[in-house]
Amino acid sequence: MWNGIIERYKKFLPITEKTPVITLKEGNTPLIPSRYASSLIGSGVEVYFKCEGFNPTCSFKDRGMTLAISKALEAGSRACMCASTGNTSASASAYAARAGMRCIVLIPEGAIALGKLSQAMIHGADVLAVKGNFDDALNIVKEITKRYPITLVNSINPYRIEGQKTGAFEICDVLGDAPEFHAIPVGNAGNITAYWKGYKEYKDSGASKKLPVMLGFQASGAAPIVKGHPIKNPKTIATAIRIGNPASWKQAQGARDESGGIIDMVTDREILDAYKMLASKEGIFAEPASAASVAGILKLAKKGYFYRKQRTENREQSIRIVCVLTGHGLKDPDRAIASVKKPKSIRPKVEAVLEHLKL
Ligand SMILES: *Cc1c(COP(=O)(O)O)cnc(C)c1O
Repeated sequence: MWNGIIERYKKFLPITEKTPVITLKEGNTPLIPSRYASSLIGSGVEVYFKCEGFNPTCSFKDRGMTLAISKALEAGSRACMCASTGNTSASASAYAARAGMRCIVLIPEGAIALGKLSQAMIHGADVLAVKGNFDDALNIVKEITKRYPITLVNSINPYRIEGQKTGAFEICDVLGDAPEFHAIPVGNAGNITAYWKGYKEYKDSGASKKLPVMLGFQASGAAPIVKGHPIKNPKTIATAIRIGNPASWKQAQGARDESGGIIDMVTDREILDAYKMLASKEGIFAEPASAASVAGILKLAKKGYFYRKQRTENREQSIRIVCVLTGHGLKDPDRAIASVKKPKSIRPKVEAVLEHLKL
């Protein structure tokens, strides 16, 4: 029976016999082979989607939150707090509810997806909408958690990164080794940091043999790492990565440089195209930010990036690319509805239906 990432990977995690494990059985998410994106990239390439929307609160944040909340409880904390573009608050509020802990959430007003807001609210968090952006909200949270006995559960909490690295373990367990490339959206840059740490630790332990090349993708209106400076007013429809000054900036650059990878950016147009492609051609409904990883590899493929890699290595077997689909599409139903044609309204008659279907 699957009992969550702490039980499965405890020897890689900073826990003891005494740690009270708060779990909703997160992790063990499917790694789904692509049917369509692989064919766009070309022969000799296999794309896989690590579908993190299958976690209990429908994003990868649960991997980090199970550990962060368990450790907070172990330390005797009675409350946790985060700034959030949505998914961190959804996850924190669920795990805090499970632990019987108070949860305080600061969100940028008007800039979080409906599904995520509904989660934080129904799980009983104190939700405050800040008239500012994510970076403003995080600064306030840092200040308050310094002054009061409240645990900060953003990804600058090291237990978040520790829990999230288990995504890399699962990918290696399924594929038998690390993939050649790992593509991931980059917001606050905690997850790229976590995956890189996970791949390295698994290799050091002997559980895998190689390391992937890390490919991180920011949205072009919120691409501080690509541009080399913080962005004051980050803009993108991919609200989960609308971050102008990533907390794990240095670590993300480290992952890029140590792995010989790239941190690049994709436009909202490219993100939306990939988002619709995933849903209509692969059957996978992921949220817009998640689609940045797919938009990114399609952009690199157009420039011949993977083809060159194949040639220089003179490869016999296919190159494997894993894209992390970080959150579920139902998180942001407004975006889905705005992205496609509305259903036609017709008379309740067989002829009326036939007239529109042109069978
Ligand atoms: C949090 C989040 C991201 C960004 O992850 P970082 O660790 O902040 O880089 C991307 N996609 C989704 C769906 C998220 O919830």
